[in-house]
Amino acid sequence: MTESDERQEKHKIKQQRLKEKVDASIAQATKDKGLLLVITGDGKGKSTAGFGMAARAVGHELKVAVCQFIKGTWECGERNLLSKHGVEFSVMNTGFTWDTQNRETDIAAAETVWADALRFLQDESINLVVLDELTYMMAYDYIAMDRVIEALNKRPAMQHVVITGRGCPREIIELADTVSKIQSVKHAYQDGVRVQKGIDW
Ligand code: ATP
Ligand code: MG
Repeated sequence: MTESDERQEKHKIKQQRLKEKVDASIAQATKDKGLLLVITGDGKGKSTAGFGMAARAVGHELKVAVCQFIKGTWECGERNLLSKHGVEFSVMNTGFTWDTQNRETDIAAAETVWADALRFLQDESINLVVLDELTYMMAYDYIAMDRVIEALNKRPAMQHVVITGRGCPREIIELADTVSKIQSVKHAYQDGVRVQKGIDW
């Protein structure tokens, strides 16, 4: 056996063992359920991850609905695309911004989008609900966390929900099935680069 044959043989055995391990662990996961996923942390990519799952679900002809809880840049590439594919959007286009001025109008705007969220969370025909930036509504106490937890608990058993936003409350993280915390290593904004079309919105 040449040195290269020996290397190949060792590699094969190692890969076989790895495959057995992976197969055994896959065989253990046999359940199906509607998942609650949280994408939090201060790195870039939370909303994109949420919209990515929406696009993935639409690609399988699943029914998707999205609530956007922050008045952001008026345009939104994902909304332009996904709404053409039957995704219903509820957008907070008045009220809450970073430079909050009026708590009353903010709360009213939050409640309007939350009413749509409740409708989505009661609709068995919707497979995936994305609640983009919902964490801020709870942090500002515009929507009480208990109401959010109650609606999540009462939703159809097979419905998936994605919540995005920084500073997700501990209680929601505990309730969730899958939680990812995106860490910021660096961001172009800190280097004076403004938001870029197709990348940031
Ligand atoms: P994205 O929508 O790009 O997935 P995100 O949802 O993770 O970002 P948000 O906190 O919702 O982040 O902020 C939205 C905007 O702020 C985006 O334009 C994004 O590029 C920018 N942003 C995200 N993370 C950072 C960061 N660590 N520093 C500066 N700007 C950021
Ligand atoms: Mg976001």
